[in-house]
Amino acid sequence: MTGLQPFRHLYVHIPFCRHKCGYCDFNAYAGMDRLMPDYVEALERELLSARERHQFQQLETIYFGGGTPSLLPAGLATRLLGFVRSTFDVASDAEVTLEANPASTDAEKVAAWLEGGVNRLSLGVQGFDPKALAVLERRTDAAQATRAFALAREMGFANISIDLIYAVPYQSMDTWIETLRRAVAMGPDHVSTYCLSFEEGTLLYRRRAEGRVPEVESDLQWDQLDAACAELEAAGFHRYEVSNWARSEGFESRHNHAYWRCRPVYGAGAGAHSYATDGSEASRWWNVARPKDYIAAAPASRADGEELEPRKKVAESLMLGLRTAEGMVAPAGFDRELATLTEAGLVERRDGRIVPTRKGMDLHNQIALAVL
Ligand code: SF4
Repeated sequence: MTGLQPFRHLYVHIPFCRHKCGYCDFNAYAGMDRLMPDYVEALERELLSARERHQFQQLETIYFGGGTPSLLPAGLATRLLGFVRSTFDVASDAEVTLEANPASTDAEKVAAWLEGGVNRLSLGVQGFDPKALAVLERRTDAAQATRAFALAREMGFANISIDLIYAVPYQSMDTWIETLRRAVAMGPDHVSTYCLSFEEGTLLYRRRAEGRVPEVESDLQWDQLDAACAELEAAGFHRYEVSNWARSEGFESRHNHAYWRCRPVYGAGAGAHSYATDGSEASRWWNVARPKDYIAAAPASRADGEELEPRKKVAESLMLGLRTAEGMVAPAGFDRELATLTEAGLVERRDGRIVPTRKGMDLHNQIALAVL
C-alpha cells in the first residue's frame, strides 16, 4: 500500500487487573503488578519507534484501555501521560479517555489523570446488584461505584461514561431496571450497555457448560435491551451506536467513532491492534499479547498482521458503519446485500445515507452476517 493515511488516533493498552473476572476474555492479567514500571518503559520504546516508522498527525483522540489503566500508581500514570504528550502533537481539544475501575479510583489518581490531560473517564461499573456482580466475579460493589463517580465529578471530570452489563444469569428484569435507574441517577454523560457473552476459555463459559450457571432466556435478553432503550431514552440519552448512549450531542465517544468509521488507529501495548489504510486497501497488525513477552520484545513488539483487500475492507466498513445511527454513504458493490437488509427492515435510506433501523441496531449480528 502506498499513500497511507496518517494516524490521528492512539490506543494504549494497560493489561493489568487486580483479579481476572470470570467472564473476561480481554488481554488482561492479574498478579503482574510488579511488571508495571518495565511495562511503561516498554510502552515508551514502542511509542518512540512508532513515531519514527509511521506518519502521525495531530492526535484527536487517545484512549487508555485495558485491563485496568486505573491500577497504574499515580506516579506511573503521570509519567506515561506526560510521555505521550511530549512525544506526539496532541490537539488542544483532543478527547483523552482512561478506563477506570471504581475499586482502584482514588483522589491521588484522579488528580494525576486530570493533571496529565485525561478529560473523559470510562468507569467500569457493570452493575449494582450483588447477585449479578457475583456471577461476573466483579470485586466492586455499588458503594464503590457511587463513591468513585462522585469523586471524579467533584474533582473536575466533565465527561464520565458508565459501563453496564445485562443478560447476566440471576439478573431479573426488575434488578436490571433498578440498575439502569441507579446509573442514570448518578448523572453520567454516556452509558454503554453490553450483553453478557460467554466466551470460550473463560471461567464463566466453563461454569455454564458444567451447569453451575443457568442459561439466560433469549426473551429476557431482548426485554432487557428493550428496557435499556426505554429507560435511557426517557432520561434524555440518545442511542448513537448498538451499545452506546450519549446524554447529548458532543458526548459520543470520538475514539470509538474512529473505529466505526475505519479511521487509522495506532494501538500500543501488549496485544494492541493497529489499523492502517490508504483509503482503498487496509492492513491491521497486533502486538504480542503477554506483558512479559511484550516488555522483552518492545519496540519490536508486533506479533502478526493481515492485509485486507478492497472488497473485504469495504465490507468491514459497512458492517461497522451500520453499528452507528449515522450509518454511512452506501458503498458500491453491495446493492444485493443492502436490498436484502432493507427488505428485512434492518436498514433504510435516509438523507442519502444507509442507516440501521431500530431493529437493525438490536439485531446487528444479522447485518454483520449479511455483509461480511
Ligand atoms: S477488570 Fe475488566 S479487563 Fe480486568 S479482568 Fe475484569 S473484565 Fe477483564
